[in-house]
Amino acid sequence: MTSQNEPLLSVQNMEKHFPVTKGLLKKQVGAVKAVDGISFDVFKGETLGLVGESGCGKSTTGRLVTRLLEPTGGKVIFEGADITHMGQGRLRPLRRDMQMIFQDPFSSLNPRHTVGTIVGAPFRIQGVQTEHGVKKAVQDILELVGLNPEHYNRYPHEFSGGQRQRIGIARTLALKPKLIIADEPVSALDVSIQAQVVNLLEDLQNELDLTYVVIAHDLSVVRHISDRVAVMYLGKIVEIADRKQLYSSPMHPYTTALLSAVPIPDPKARREGRERIRLTGDVPSPLNPPPACRFHTRCWKAQEICKTVEPPLEELASGHRVACHFPENAADVAKPAAASA
Ligand code: SF4
Repeated sequence: MTSQNEPLLSVQNMEKHFPVTKGLLKKQVGAVKAVDGISFDVFKGETLGLVGESGCGKSTTGRLVTRLLEPTGGKVIFEGADITHMGQGRLRPLRRDMQMIFQDPFSSLNPRHTVGTIVGAPFRIQGVQTEHGVKKAVQDILELVGLNPEHYNRYPHEFSGGQRQRIGIARTLALKPKLIIADEPVSALDVSIQAQVVNLLEDLQNELDLTYVVIAHDLSVVRHISDRVAVMYLGKIVEIADRKQLYSSPMHPYTTALLSAVPIPDPKARREGRERIRLTGDVPSPLNPPPACRFHTRCWKAQEICKTVEPPLEELASGHRVACHFPENAADVAKPAAASA
């Protein structure tokens, strides 16, 4: 990770509320608050893991950052430029610098196109000239992601799931992006090949100086690849910290619960390890989220204040921010709200 003062990406109080309408006149009767005021920075060369259960807003966040969706509030700053409401014309050159890898490698690849056409499409769409022609450029990228360049004329169905994800990654890399948002890049893959794809992403990052935001529903997937991890719950970031700190001393009860569900392969470590916390109930609807701390309906530590006062996302240790009135592992960190509750 290269640490620089200026973030490559800065998300400031970003919101996405989808209107809910009723009747022929489409009168707005509410809003699904998919993303509800989140802020984070991503620095050049680092990987930020973005984790939470399905419906927490993490995939919407990825689409907002890459401007596949337009935010309803807040700001998205990329390389110092405010791109929050930038029109498609001005966004076009930026699309080269920001790319997305999608979860399902099969449905994101056109089955009627050859690998050469798929990976070469960004060159054609952006009108990019290559020194030795598009075919050579595509074959070089195929080699870079561990595919046989001679398979240029094959179709997606001729490849395994892991290879198809490599094709998706190759397409993403075609125009040498600066930032890649990987939305559940391995969750559709067999467990045995997930590690290979994660390792490939890491190797490519080192080789091409890439910056990643890796979205996952499970803390185990982002553990090895992330420099920092942000945990989302119902449209909000509830904790963000350096990877080591988050895994060794999680402060938000939700993070603790997610971590307790991560399987520990070594039986000895498992015996000595943490107890599994089973969260009861489903994630509440983002159409009508619980007031104050949104996690209070499922939190075993909830008290009266959690239902009435929203805990702010506060820095309780260096670079470790958490939104909780009664954080875990915070014995030596003074917390006025908890003390006065
Ligand atoms: Fe649990 Fe209260 Fe902390 Fe929310 S603020 S996570 S309900 S202890």
